[in-house]
Amino acid sequence: MDKFGYMEKYGFEQLCFFHDKYTGLKAITCIHNTVLGPSLGGTRVWNYSNEEDAVEDVLRLARGMTYKSALAGLALGGGKSVIIGDASVLRKDPVRREAFWRAFGRYIEGLNGRYITAEDVGTSTQDMVYVNMETSNVVGLPGRSGDPSPYTSLGAFKSIQACCQHVYGSNDVKGKTVAVQGTGNTGYYLCKLLHENGAKLIVSDISQERLDRVVSEFGATVVGTEDIYGVDCDIYAPCALGATVNDQTIPQLKCKIVCGTANNVLKDAPVHAKALRDKGITYAPDYLANAGGVINVSYEQAEGGYNEEASLRDIDRIYYRMLDILQVAADTGKFTYEIADKMAEDRIEAVRNIKSIMTSRA
Ligand code: NAD
Repeated sequence: MDKFGYMEKYGFEQLCFFHDKYTGLKAITCIHNTVLGPSLGGTRVWNYSNEEDAVEDVLRLARGMTYKSALAGLALGGGKSVIIGDASVLRKDPVRREAFWRAFGRYIEGLNGRYITAEDVGTSTQDMVYVNMETSNVVGLPGRSGDPSPYTSLGAFKSIQACCQHVYGSNDVKGKTVAVQGTGNTGYYLCKLLHENGAKLIVSDISQERLDRVVSEFGATVVGTEDIYGVDCDIYAPCALGATVNDQTIPQLKCKIVCGTANNVLKDAPVHAKALRDKGITYAPDYLANAGGVINVSYEQAEGGYNEEASLRDIDRIYYRMLDILQVAADTGKFTYEIADKMAEDRIEAVRNIKSIMTSRA
């Protein structure tokens, strides 16, 4: 991969490699953009088969965070970290684990506030507690904003309501059938909200334990992992993997709306957004639908400390932002993802121009 070429093409600021011989830490942090504020994004621990895959992942994820925070109206830029390793092995070695995460915390501290980290796949709140022993540039800590998943799901639920308002003329999900792919952290909370509001659930997961929980608590109907795309439903809610809307799955979809918590839902945005529209399916841009979690953790860094009430008010606004985007798409014939991207980019450009005014802060 031509790293500088890629960074130039997509406007990346910084790519850092961290290594600690004693704990075996191999981390890569990427800062995509800091125009709106310090970059924020979680740390993913994954057994990447090679370094190139890890670099590609961190670049893609960091850029996604820039767009997510920009569209959510936050004073934050986009960044992300990936750590090459096996999270389950690390968890079994408590002595190494503390040192490992504290070493990572020291490197993050070295970035001097340009990057704030949090949990992501393969990390826990306890890992962030260790990071916090070395740096205050970490969020998602216990006793503060905690686990972002319920807030992510709340934002996705508001987005589904906005889509229903746009498509059916009412934001009531009562009686609607929702096919939820993945009943893990965010999928579970989304199922809960949908069930409490009278929707019927069809679910798939590779974990029997996670399926059992939504069957017993919310009366969900289980289908196979490959059958979820073709079920009769109003809404398909991807809450597991990325790229599930693709050439193979679109012909199977019977829904009117695609809206869930997963990142990078469209495998190839221009191609698959068009294919969805040709089938009369409304697509809720993923990084707006799943912005509730980042909105909530951002309140941990706010002056006066974490404020859940303010965070919930902000997450409510996802509903109106989603409605706006759906309406502009209908009025202009543009794709919803294009409108979301443009709104995020316009905000960054507008703020970039005020940076010439000197203050004591920067
Ligand atoms: P999670 O790991 O808790 O849940 C994912 C679930 O998907 C698991 O139960 C897993 O068994 C299941 N799964 C894996 N492969 C599957 C398959 N082929 N078919 C059906 N189910 C499958 O993760 P999560 O935190 O709920 O995140 C889900 C998605 O939401 C991810 O794409 C993540 O990037 C995105 N997201 C999460 C948050 C958050 O706050 N946790 C915020 C923004 C975006």
